[in-house]
Amino acid sequence: MKTYNDLANLIFPDINLTIDDLEKRYPKRNLPEGAMVTRFAPSPTGFLHTGSLFTSLISSRFAKQSGGVFYIRLEDTDTKREIEGSGESLLKQLKVFGVEPDEGYLSDSKEIGNYGPYKQSNRADIYKVVIKHLISIGRAYPCFYTQEELSELRKKQEAEKVIPGVYGIYAKYRDLTPEEAINKINNGENFIIRFKSMGDHNNKIKFHDEIRGDLELTENDQDIVIYKSDGLPTYHFAHLVDDHFMRTTVVTRGEEWLPSLPIHLELFDTLGFERPKYAHFPVIMKVENGNRRKLSKRKDAEAACSFFLEQGYPVYGFIEYLLTIANSNYEEWRNSNLDKDFYDFKLSFDKMSLDGALFDLEKVESISKERMAYRKASDLANEVEAWAKEYNQEFYNKIVNNKDFLVNILNIEREKDNPRKDYAKYSDIYPIISFFYDDVFNNIDKNTLDWTVMKSKGEFKEVDKSIIKEFLIDYMNNYNVDIDEESWFNNLKDLANKYKFTSDRKAYKNNPNDFNGQVGDAAGFIRLALAGRKNTPNIYFVQKILGKDKVFNRINSIIEKF
Ligand code: GLU
Repeated sequence: MKTYNDLANLIFPDINLTIDDLEKRYPKRNLPEGAMVTRFAPSPTGFLHTGSLFTSLISSRFAKQSGGVFYIRLEDTDTKREIEGSGESLLKQLKVFGVEPDEGYLSDSKEIGNYGPYKQSNRADIYKVVIKHLISIGRAYPCFYTQEELSELRKKQEAEKVIPGVYGIYAKYRDLTPEEAINKINNGENFIIRFKSMGDHNNKIKFHDEIRGDLELTENDQDIVIYKSDGLPTYHFAHLVDDHFMRTTVVTRGEEWLPSLPIHLELFDTLGFERPKYAHFPVIMKVENGNRRKLSKRKDAEAACSFFLEQGYPVYGFIEYLLTIANSNYEEWRNSNLDKDFYDFKLSFDKMSLDGALFDLEKVESISKERMAYRKASDLANEVEAWAKEYNQEFYNKIVNNKDFLVNILNIEREKDNPRKDYAKYSDIYPIISFFYDDVFNNIDKNTLDWTVMKSKGEFKEVDKSIIKEFLIDYMNNYNVDIDEESWFNNLKDLANKYKFTSDRKAYKNNPNDFNGQVGDAAGFIRLALAGRKNTPNIYFVQKILGKDKVFNRINSIIEKF
């Protein structure tokens, strides 16, 4: 009589370790009460998805704020979907966003920690120990279905309108005797290994999710594949082994895994492993035409984290945005703790949204604007330089050529109580300030500038060029920005009045034809002459930064065209 033990030995003759050996090799972690061990377990299948950044950031925060451990495990058992090198590049991107593991996979040649290996393809023997055990207790079995048989089974089940899969009466090989199975293997028949479920689809099980609260789930009855023909386990099984032996306390993962939770629970219980806690994170959604849908790799540029780096959203703003979608009370906390580091905020599972976090690029922008406005100009200049080096060579060359010039520009209306908030990302900066650079200014077509002024709402009128010219010459003759802004503006007002640009709004409104325009229009002409555009940072400071010579050269180059 052959036994399940014989079957297990036939399949894994070289595996001599036992589960007990593994328990000893990976002892329980010695951590203070309440400390969480969390992980991020990406598959190396491409770029870093915004949803993955969200999951990893929040998981790492839970570990850090509880004095626990956050580790990274590379889930590379699906070799068909693997993209060469993407594991390492995921890690690099995470680092850019400030997510750094205490432990785990760092690169293909480097990992830290005592619970490794952290790359699943290097853990094949560990999985085999557990599978061998399951076979020996009759809870896993070799399944000899061919692909053709499986697709036939699927058709049959479709026709019978029953739940598809290998379970119960549809699991042809689950009740083979060890002898029968051994004979088939000895005959060279191909097989994979399935878990033998004892569940019943009609039963409900209760479970408490850290975010979703008490749940009622349908018990698993599927004999899922745990070991594939390539010698590697499937996700379901690898997750069980790894989260157990790496001593994860809370499995934080996307809610797309919630439907397979009953499988995982049955696996844990069968092995007598203590169940970890689970927190299924909301999927990041987007509103399109009034409907919610998942942020999609194919349709949405912002599904890839690289989008935010390319566009130059500052990492500190973006992380803060992710915190606002993680916990509904984050913003309130932020507003009353402006001087604190955002990581001083204590995240909690019960403040996480259940029905999908809504992604909102406008909100990303408004948070970034707010944060960028309070950066020191020199810090911001460093950030912009690093960004431009990678994404805007033209700007980068100018920055390196004269960094102080950029710092001065960025400093306009900065260090004050209510600073200007005109940049939401690094890529916004150059288009707004490029006129400061002479080559850019010289390239502006001076013949197409718009010298009209508003007469009344929606109606514009031409101002005689000779008047503008006289005004600008007079402005240069009396040029003085070595006084405070208010005095400068008062002088400008007097000069503008002289050329019939009035300070009296009401009078202008009633009789616009009595005037050439308003004071603001006259100031606008100076702006247009200096920058070739109608919107610029505060013109008083623009002049100080450009210096008198450049101011005069620019005004003269404009007047020449009149
Ligand atoms: N490798 C899985 C994924 O990328 C991880 C799921 C988990 O965190 O357990 O979706």
